[in-house]
Amino acid sequence: MKIFIPRFWIKVKPMLEPFVSAVPLLEKLENAGFEAYFVGGSVRDFLLGKPINDVDIATSATPLEMKRIFPKTVDVGIEHGTILVLANGIGYEITTFRAEAEYVDYRKPKQVIFIRSLIKDLKRRDFTMNAIAMDRHGKLIDPFNGQIAIKQKRIETVGKAKERFQEDALRMMRAVRFVSQLSFSVEAKTLQAVAEHGYLLEKIAVERKQAEFAKLLTGSSRRESVKVLLETNLYRFLPGLQQQRAVFEKLLHFRCETLNLNEMWALLIHLAEYNTAKETDDFLRKWKLPVKQIKEINSILAFLKIRLKHDWTSYDLYCAGRNKIESTEKLFQVISGVQDDAVLTQILARYLQLPIKERSQLNVTGQNLIDWLKKPGGPWVRKLIEQIELKIIENELKNEKQAIKEWLLKCNQN
Ligand code: ATP
Ligand code: MG
Repeated sequence: MKIFIPRFWIKVKPMLEPFVSAVPLLEKLENAGFEAYFVGGSVRDFLLGKPINDVDIATSATPLEMKRIFPKTVDVGIEHGTILVLANGIGYEITTFRAEAEYVDYRKPKQVIFIRSLIKDLKRRDFTMNAIAMDRHGKLIDPFNGQIAIKQKRIETVGKAKERFQEDALRMMRAVRFVSQLSFSVEAKTLQAVAEHGYLLEKIAVERKQAEFAKLLTGSSRRESVKVLLETNLYRFLPGLQQQRAVFEKLLHFRCETLNLNEMWALLIHLAEYNTAKETDDFLRKWKLPVKQIKEINSILAFLKIRLKHDWTSYDLYCAGRNKIESTEKLFQVISGVQDDAVLTQILARYLQLPIKERSQLNVTGQNLIDWLKKPGGPWVRKLIEQIELKIIENELKNEKQAIKEWLLKCNQN
């Protein structure tokens, strides 16, 4: 007898962590009469042989049904069908199979409908490579040939690209960020649809765009993704970058793959030739970056300005601190086209040899100065402290109370 195997049930791969630890959860759901699978990015990355951070699980059980099965749960997004199940100290996001009814205004669906069909759940997913499910034995359910897309390194929508981008315009940015992260290319019709529907991105919340852009900026093929932004004109619909074609064109020439996210933001701003902190602030605020991150980027840019003028002085190293030195020097090397780890190591060694790394390490206080000089406190105290600090950093004075006192009294006599 011939056994019929549906086209989309494909071979089993030996399962690895973190899937293995999550298998008991799938078993529990199945024992209670439901279906449960690994889905989404974790399955894709597993097939690609990439490291997997967290597994996404999809099930036919509704959130309420899940809560009856698992003793410890947290409501993280119950209205979208997602709950967090705690097992052995690990949190697993489990989401009910869903269909998304009626997209309004080119963004998130107005209503989420819980369904019992895995295939329909896979159908609402963005790209074929992201629409593969894996059961607890490692068997793959792949109705849209996502494995072939993965093998051929192709990003293609599930269904007609045009319609899928009209439902949720963020998917266009997701396509481009996957170019950066996975070094895949966008399939021709999907690419064409991105080029035609970029304007719909204006409807999308900045926070969602920012999350995708951050992944785009830090992927290993970031310059390939910049090419796609240019080719499709999608950059025209990114906050603060609408008129900045030249920035992306310039970016293509910098070997920027060594840079982290904040360094990449700083590079973009440098290329956009924003010169004042206000211009930078305005730009980063458009992207709704957290204040702390904006400060960090501004600080890297301030040290970059100094570094572009001259080599690191001991005082610059002291003011910047280890992390800022590293960021600034990496960025400087990218901009100047001379990438040399040995130079960075030498600079960091100079920093490590500084006699003090921060003001709190000074062996003298403002009160000491007031007592020794017998003068009432005032702005002079701070100025003098800075002067002492500089002398110590430049090895002209020892960071010892007695030595500082002697130097001070001697200066005061002259
Ligand atoms: P990453 O590795 O960056 O987390 P991911 O593919 O897992 O990539 P997520 O944002 O975590 O991306 O989404 C999980 C899954 O949910 C995706 O793989 C995809 O199946 C589906 N998905 C996410 N966003 C969308 C969207 N806008 N439209 C349709 N499906 C989506
Ligand atoms: Mg994910």
